Amino acid sequence: MQQTSIDEIDVSKYDAVVLGAGAGGLLTSLALSANGKRILILEKESRLGGVWHGYRVGDFRVDQGLHVITRVKHGAFTRFLRTYLDPPPEFVLHEGWFFRVHDKVGTIPSTIGETLRWPLTDLRGRLGLARIGARIKTMKLEEMRKYKDITFLEFMMSRGADNQVILDVMQSAIFMAAGVPIDEASAYEALRTLKDTDKESSKLGSAKRLIFGSSEYDEGYVIGGMQNLVERVVDAISGDYVLNVPVERIVARDGKVSHFVAGGREFQHPFIVSNIPLWFMPGIVDSDRTEDQEFFKKWSNMKYTKGLTIWLGLSEVVIGDRKSRVIVHPNPNTWIISLSSFDPSCAPKGKELVGVATVIREDETREAKVEEVREKVLRIVHPEILDHIEMQHVQVSYATRAALIPGQTALDRPGPETPIEGLYIVGTDTAGEGVGLQQAANSAEGVAKTLFKRIGD
Ligand SMILES: Cc1cc2nc3c(=O)[nH]c(=O)nc-3n(C[C@H](O)[C@H](O)[C@H](O)COP(=O)(O)OP(=O)(O)OC[C@H]3O[C@@H](n4cnc5c(N)ncnc54)[C@H](O)[C@@H]3O)c2cc1C
Repeated sequence: MQQTSIDEIDVSKYDAVVLGAGAGGLLTSLALSANGKRILILEKESRLGGVWHGYRVGDFRVDQGLHVITRVKHGAFTRFLRTYLDPPPEFVLHEGWFFRVHDKVGTIPSTIGETLRWPLTDLRGRLGLARIGARIKTMKLEEMRKYKDITFLEFMMSRGADNQVILDVMQSAIFMAAGVPIDEASAYEALRTLKDTDKESSKLGSAKRLIFGSSEYDEGYVIGGMQNLVERVVDAISGDYVLNVPVERIVARDGKVSHFVAGGREFQHPFIVSNIPLWFMPGIVDSDRTEDQEFFKKWSNMKYTKGLTIWLGLSEVVIGDRKSRVIVHPNPNTWIISLSSFDPSCAPKGKELVGVATVIREDETREAKVEEVREKVLRIVHPEILDHIEMQHVQVSYATRAALIPGQTALDRPGPETPIEGLYIVGTDTAGEGVGLQQAANSAEGVAKTLFKRIGD
């Protein structure tokens, strides 16, 4: 892709126009380019990628957030990259999440045998976990759908699964997947996460995995960092992009896009894909039909997830190869990862880059949260880290535009079509399974499929 300026644009040269260059917008553009289409992207910020990016802080290279890529082997995000980037990026899988509850550490057991040896609770707790674990692992997707409008905590309570240690561990696992605690997360999304599958499988298959375990664990980090990946995706897209130009208005008349306004100019195009968060759309879409206005208004109140990441550059290797740790208790739930033990290129030789991530609520300040994580987590779990910090860098941003709560699950979110002909939507608040980049890629796949049929040759 080439950068161009708003004054030089001739929209008739492009097969589609993408508004907003987050992961959803870029992946849609990538899929369309691979099918011979030329794309124009308009982005309001001074760089491409949205919240998907990375940069250098002193001698260290950080990402925006701890990007643990789920479903590296089978997910939509890596499928996009394997299909469209040559050579595909390299991922390093981590060893699974280690949960620390007070002074004990264990993983989420994936088999009955592991459950019965689980070190984090007593025998009664283990038996309870075996019971609920078996129930979840053998549950069909169809049945899970029935629980989309209740919270995971309500689901657990209705099954009598009230052991506090189990709830603490579930809380941490669900926080990672849904970005909200178990008393807010949709039971449907939580159950799918715990069953760890996007696909339906037979009861026998599920039972086999439960007894013999599964080799399906596939989460990891991309070598070279997120910025490198975003740049490679941008290079592979065919077309042009304009930066620093917010789209001001999308005008629809009689149920069809008439034009859009950006940089003081009006543009007409039959295929417009918006990656702009739905919460901005009521202020941007100008339609003469009440149903269009109501559609965008309805989806403009999505509850998002917000993350706080503390990057710590250490003067020497302190955590080393203990590749993942999730601190369940004491609160707050925190993920600690030695990123440089996966990808040494993000820290100078002999030093270590550690990422510490947590969820931040609207009523909490960044300073208070950092202090809480340092004092209630790092000082207890890895006090030696605090003596070796030579760089501290804090990021706060939304991670996924729709937290997986009742009313916002994959079964509820709108898209890729809108009631307005010619206007499509993509992003992590629109239709698409999974969370984060998986969700962005699934939603991009949906838009691209719809547009292939419409645009023609
Ligand atoms: C802290 C953190 C941790 C994360 N961890 C993970 C993880 O572990 N695993 C994982 O898979 N994912 C993770 N993600 C999530 C993933 O990066 C995001 O969910 C995904 O990148 C969001 O994509 P999106 O399509 O919703 O676009 P967004 O990033 O929301 O992009 C929207 C774009 O639209 C632009 N825009 C807005 N208004 C206008 C306008 N009027 N005109 C033009 N452009 C406009 C914005 O500037 C932006 O570029 C994490 C993200 C963060 C921040």
